[in-house]
Amino acid sequence: MDSVEIKLKCGHCEQEYSQETFNFAVALYGVFFLMGKEFGYAGITCPSCLKTIAHKGKINQIEFLKENVSSLVIIENSQHLLNLRYHSSVNFFPQNIQPYKDVDIPHWEAPLDFDFDIMRMELHVCIEENLDLYENLFCTYAFDDEPPMGSFLSVGWFKKDWIEEFIQIENDNSIRIFPRYVPHSLLYENIEQFCWDNHIYLNYIKFLQEKADSQIIKLKEVAKQNNLDFQDILTSNPGILDQNFLEREKNQFVESKQERDLRIPSDFLSILISEPSPVALPLCCQ
Ligand SMILES: [Zn+2]
Repeated sequence: MDSVEIKLKCGHCEQEYSQETFNFAVALYGVFFLMGKEFGYAGITCPSCLKTIAHKGKINQIEFLKENVSSLVIIENSQHLLNLRYHSSVNFFPQNIQPYKDVDIPHWEAPLDFDFDIMRMELHVCIEENLDLYENLFCTYAFDDEPPMGSFLSVGWFKKDWIEEFIQIENDNSIRIFPRYVPHSLLYENIEQFCWDNHIYLNYIKFLQEKADSQIIKLKEVAKQNNLDFQDILTSNPGILDQNFLEREKNQFVESKQERDLRIPSDFLSILISEPSPVALPLCCQ
């Protein structure tokens, strides 16, 4: 594996980065990786100006950087191991963003309430069935040994031409599109789960409904063009989401609002008092 001496300068505020300061930025705001077949990207939020910037390199250099960035960071004279975990951008995956709403950006997503090994297997099947994903695009997920963080996993594959544009959109709107690897923190994870249970899940169900509606429209067109029975095609496509199930889930979430509103303050308070340190420094070595 090639070593890499990182040479990165923020184009917005001129801040220059060594490996050490790069790692420090990762400890604060996380890092995104975009893994291609020959090249890749490692991107951070510049702590000086809070803009997203990215380093491009050969894929083995990016892999080396990923290994290196997961190792040690020195904060207040103590060395800390960064236990980085993949954390998806549930609110801002590309399909949520204009003008990319109708662009077919390959992605795979699922709630993380099931087995990590099964999830990895399904992802591998997805890639084997769509080899183009591996051959020509940049993947946000690097198939780590550690399970992702949070309640939701979203993996995206980006064309090279889109990467600069999405970085620009992140900077123009102060949002996070590319999923970050962030230092694992129980407090962070609990708050994220709290947001998912009380709000984001509803958005996710609405997103699935839109996806199911669009799949149904496409299937109806296929049925019409080929003079086939729509119900027969629907039956032979078990991957199509069940609209009735989604409607039930959505209604249940909306109907439970009053009960949820009553317990939100106490649930949030229990999270705050269960983990006294808001700083995500998982392991101090010195
Ligand atoms: Zn900067």
